[in-house]
Amino acid sequence: MARLTRRKFIKATGACAALGTVASFSPVSFGKGAKGRVIVIGGGYGGAIAAKYIKKADPSIDVMLIEKNTQYVSCPLSNEVLGGERDIGSITFNYKAMNQNHNVKVVHDEVVEIDAANHTVKGAGGNQYQYDKLVVSPGIDFRFEKIEGHSAAVAEKIPHAWKAGPQTTTLHKQLMAMKDGGVCYIAAPPNPFRCPPGPYERAAQIAHYFKHHKPKSKVIILDAKDKFSKQGLFMQGYKKFYGDTIEWVSGADGGIIEAVDPDNMTLVGQVDEYKGDVLNVIPAQKAGKIAQVAGLTDDSGWCPVNQGTFESKIHKDVHVIGDASIAGKMPKSGYAANSQGKVCAAVIVAALNGEPPGEPSYVNTCYSIITPDWGISVAAVYQLVNGKIVGVKGAGGLSPMDASAETRAIEAQYARSWFKNITSDMFT
Ligand SMILES: Cc1cc2nc3c(=O)[nH]c(=O)nc-3n(C[C@H](O)[C@H](O)[C@H](O)COP(=O)(O)OP(=O)(O)OC[C@H]3O[C@@H](n4cnc5c(N)ncnc54)[C@H](O)[C@@H]3O)c2cc1C
Repeated sequence: MARLTRRKFIKATGACAALGTVASFSPVSFGKGAKGRVIVIGGGYGGAIAAKYIKKADPSIDVMLIEKNTQYVSCPLSNEVLGGERDIGSITFNYKAMNQNHNVKVVHDEVVEIDAANHTVKGAGGNQYQYDKLVVSPGIDFRFEKIEGHSAAVAEKIPHAWKAGPQTTTLHKQLMAMKDGGVCYIAAPPNPFRCPPGPYERAAQIAHYFKHHKPKSKVIILDAKDKFSKQGLFMQGYKKFYGDTIEWVSGADGGIIEAVDPDNMTLVGQVDEYKGDVLNVIPAQKAGKIAQVAGLTDDSGWCPVNQGTFESKIHKDVHVIGDASIAGKMPKSGYAANSQGKVCAAVIVAALNGEPPGEPSYVNTCYSIITPDWGISVAAVYQLVNGKIVGVKGAGGLSPMDASAETRAIEAQYARSWFKNITSDMFT
């Protein structure tokens, strides 16, 4: 069977991405001498895709995925767990197929050190791994220090649930245990952060749960910002389905949180204090810890990269993709990470075959589910202009305001089908 050339690979990944469907290639032949070894750190929306697509494009490249957890819990659709519409099992995946179907060597270890000069990474147990090219996709970490009294330990009591997993379950249990007539505060973070529409979808999902189980309760969003993604569409959906159950307080109106007092279940704003029954504080964010430790970040806390290749501007042969990277106009989303993973895979395959990188194209769509039958979205296609990722004018856009119920129901279906496709792309 013919080997997938780099040009065909870019074309195929671009086309699949644009359709929002699963990219599926025929298996390609093995047996060539190894061209090099690629290590991918982090098996999430960016890393799992980069690992799989490098191997698919050129099986003669050895690919190792180092992921600290044996299971991956998806943030996309985790808000539906809070809304009571799905269980956490439905968003939990494992890495068996990566190894069995794609011949990617999966190692469960936490990388604690990257030695870019010697092209090695070190695991928590002391194991060392050698690479020719490294892909780093560690997601995010939190700037707890921006809120007085906050810490990783406090977040076990007032969960952020911004990395899906045990904290999603904790927050869900707290909502279930809350009395009817209670108040849940969501403190939304400043830009830039993972999933710009996420806190507002979460508010809708919690209101959905309240409407059916605790109708006298309220969700109040205390925002560090004065505007947010898909704001008009969210506000319209809130009003239509949840009346005054959801309230949004902008930064200018006192939404910025300066301190937390978990013992008294109180958030301290610049003007007022807010005592709640459930507190969901989503802190300001930065690139995942290993990116900080490895010196891949700049003063912003995120990783500067060549936006055409995702190669770090700081360390050669190290590529950073996904939320941790500074990727021009692309938001920090799972779909963006998937698209970047494919571009990065094509670049690395080309480099290890002695070819120049192709011209990249990137895509993103973010769906939000306001009720099980009411979805909204924002979509964009991106290109590289003067070294920066920018939106292609006229491509994508927001769901229309005042759309019919039928259109919104189709968008909610698209959201679930997008999730099925993108997670199949990662884990089957
Ligand atoms: C509530 C919520 C809803 C969301 N909804 C959507 C949505 O609808 N659509 C969308 O496109 N995006 C959505 N997102 C955003 C999406 O989850 C992220 O943008 C995406 O996960 C980023 O991918 P990533 O590869 O950068 O990081 P991740 O997916 O977080 O993957 C990082 C991986 O790296 C591993 N790791 C980290 N450090 C190490 C280390 N040192 N050693 C080994 N392994 C390591 C982690 O365990 C993790 O598995 C949502 C986010 C949230 C919080």
